[in-house]
Amino acid sequence: KDDPLRILLLENVNATAVAMLKAQGFVVEEVKKALGEQELIQRLKEGNFSAIGIRSKTKVTAKVIAECPNLLVIGCFCIGTNQVDLLAAAKAGIAVFNSPFSNSRSVAELVISEVIALSRQLCDRAREMREGVWNKVSKGCWEVRGKTLGIVGYGHIGSQLSVLAESMGMSVLYYDVLPIMPLGSAKQTETLDDLLEQADFLTLHVPELPETTNMIGAEQISKMKDGAYLLNNARGKVIDIPALIDALKSGKLAGAAVDVFPHEPASNGPNFGDSLNAWSSELRSCPNLILTPHIGGSTEEAQSAIGAEVGGALIRYLNYGSTIGSVNFPEVNLRPILHDGTVRLCHVHLNQPGVLKVVNAVLGEHNVEKQFSDSKGDIAYLLADITNVDEKEIKDIYEAIAGSRANIATRMLF
Ligand code: NAD
Repeated sequence: KDDPLRILLLENVNATAVAMLKAQGFVVEEVKKALGEQELIQRLKEGNFSAIGIRSKTKVTAKVIAECPNLLVIGCFCIGTNQVDLLAAAKAGIAVFNSPFSNSRSVAELVISEVIALSRQLCDRAREMREGVWNKVSKGCWEVRGKTLGIVGYGHIGSQLSVLAESMGMSVLYYDVLPIMPLGSAKQTETLDDLLEQADFLTLHVPELPETTNMIGAEQISKMKDGAYLLNNARGKVIDIPALIDALKSGKLAGAAVDVFPHEPASNGPNFGDSLNAWSSELRSCPNLILTPHIGGSTEEAQSAIGAEVGGALIRYLNYGSTIGSVNFPEVNLRPILHDGTVRLCHVHLNQPGVLKVVNAVLGEHNVEKQFSDSKGDIAYLLADITNVDEKEIKDIYEAIAGSRANIATRMLF
């Protein structure tokens, strides 16, 4: 009860998170780089860490999970969670958290900058100046005021963008598979075709799914206005790149911005072209095309917001057992413990018949103030607040629940 929990943070996790975790009294050890499997296992075991914070490069494999039974929680201080074996973690009673939406504003701002830059052929002019060419043109250059922005996917990013675009005098239309309340004066279209036909700028903000793969190809581009612009800051497979190249070279589209690619290089460096695809050099020779290396969400603010979100999730899980926002656990929450003598049971267990009967038989003698449980696949999670228990009874309850047939992991918080 009195030993501070120990947290290992790898890959230069943002300072916001480090400060938050230290302020809770946790012992925080930081490592600047990612660790390989064996090194990670050794470090976690030797340091007796209860929590680990990683970014995208550290792989938390089934082996790491099997060899580190003291681990309670993994914080992915990034968007994706592919680097963690989520199922193995859930089966071992380890909750995993990430931060899927902390960079929405950063992406929306990049899109605004691209809309204006495309409309003014800014990147071509800037490149020509660097090449020593003075090319003052106004033909084909437009203000964005009064133009129509068509947003495909009105989620976290699409809706932020909607507000920003309207403040510049643009009209906003959007298409989404869900009916979504518009912000400001934006309007939802019935079909994707309606949007394609009306948009001066078409910007994509849908997740990568089977139904969004090649969602914008030659057929969809042919339905767009002549001289429209296409922007993809979502996922690389959402547009058919050869169709985009054709449309830019023929002049059907007046410009495009692409931040994401079907296959992206694993690290920064020169000569990335070949790793993109066979069409890479053709793409790079297109006029009025802004190519960026997946930087939509790459800002200091987004990194700090990721630190705050994942740091906060780790604190809520370790201190209160809350799994709100977890990617591999059912989401269960009770109000924070008030330190008024309440003891909280946190019980991760197999999703089997009869578990609640066992738990209630153990807790039956005590006053259960609140209880909440939920399941996700094979895993279930229960929180129960009990009052009027002394230290000996806490130990007895713990041993009975932790020793029950379906137990995966049990903690008592007080
Ligand atoms: P979100 O989940 O909040 O919103 C996605 C929206 O798309 C939802 O409203 C959903 O209903 C809608 N949608 C799903 N399938 C659709 C379909 N077939 N047709 C129309 N609408 C559909 O996601 P978000 O946070 O706004 O992110 C959008 C995309 O941006 C994701 O692919 C994400 O990976 C990507 N992203 C890129 C960067 C970057 O650096 N470029 C950064 C963050 C996010």
